[in-house]
Amino acid sequence: MTDPGMKCTRCRQPARFRLPAHNAHFCDPCLDLFFKRQVQKAIKDYAMLRPGQEVLVAVSGGKDSLALWLTLEELGYRTAGVHLCLEMGEFSEASLQSCRQMAARLGRPLHEASLGQLTDGLSMQEIVWATRRQFCSVCGTFKRHFLNRLCLELGFDTVATGHHLDDEAGRLLGNLIHNHLDYLQAMWPVLESGGDAATGFARKVKPLCRLEGAEIRAFAQVHELPVAQGKCAGSKGATLLYYQKAMDQLEADMPGTKHNFYLEFLRQKAAPPPPPQLGGRCQICGAPTMSELCGVCRMLAQARQWREKRRARLAAEEAAAPTP
Ligand code: SF4
Ligand SMILES: [Zn+2]
Ligand SMILES: [Zn+2]
Repeated sequence: MTDPGMKCTRCRQPARFRLPAHNAHFCDPCLDLFFKRQVQKAIKDYAMLRPGQEVLVAVSGGKDSLALWLTLEELGYRTAGVHLCLEMGEFSEASLQSCRQMAARLGRPLHEASLGQLTDGLSMQEIVWATRRQFCSVCGTFKRHFLNRLCLELGFDTVATGHHLDDEAGRLLGNLIHNHLDYLQAMWPVLESGGDAATGFARKVKPLCRLEGAEIRAFAQVHELPVAQGKCAGSKGATLLYYQKAMDQLEADMPGTKHNFYLEFLRQKAAPPPPPQLGGRCQICGAPTMSELCGVCRMLAQARQWREKRRARLAAEEAAAPTP
């Protein structure tokens, strides 16, 4: 992303970052300005937030959500962070510490929850084994469910997430390839709230939707954000990564492709999608769902059964083992 001798496109000082999609080179202060303008434009174009509004920021400890938290705070929104610790070993611990460092640096509250508290002690790995689904698909469903619940419980009307252009362009490509018309219709950087304030859907916004991962990485460098090092072990084989890789290849050959692809898709939509349909309520947790149980309660029931069977099998094996 850098070239010795590069000059900043805006101020002509030595530049540290090259942004091919914008045909620009930026020094640190101009990169910061560019970044915040992109966020402001997204907020304005899609009516994400009111000036100075209170907003809950879902932070994972990665560069995207920490960059988002800092930006919203510096743009004058009243922010608080929320972190769901996935309890997947050292990486989860490092992620939690990063979020705490960021909260201390901003002087803003961080609300913390851990997966085990919300799942009756079942780990993500156990739920994945029990349901035989992809790790990221299970994890994503749980994160969305619990973040929604935390946002409502904490009394915020909007939660902001660090999803960015690479995520959205990758998802758009996947949905087009598989002709997922429902998902294509629902794709929008704002998901309006639905239902009552206690058990419905919280409003969700994606203010980084105009920014590429590489641009966010540059912003994280400029601000020396305390980004958690390492990689989530669950991400291996995630389908979205294949679509993102394909988009990266197109972007490398034709800079600006991701921008055109995703933002033009949004531009051509006649209107934002309608608020989510509520359907019924989950008989266990009360969350909106089209079936008797929501996806999370269904998976938890399956995982509890799996855990009982496993315990019984291990006990039988132990009883049958010859005594020394
Ligand atoms: S990479 Fe996948 S498993 Fe890891 S936190 Fe993200 S969604 Fe969850
Ligand atoms: Zn400059
Ligand atoms: Zn439920």
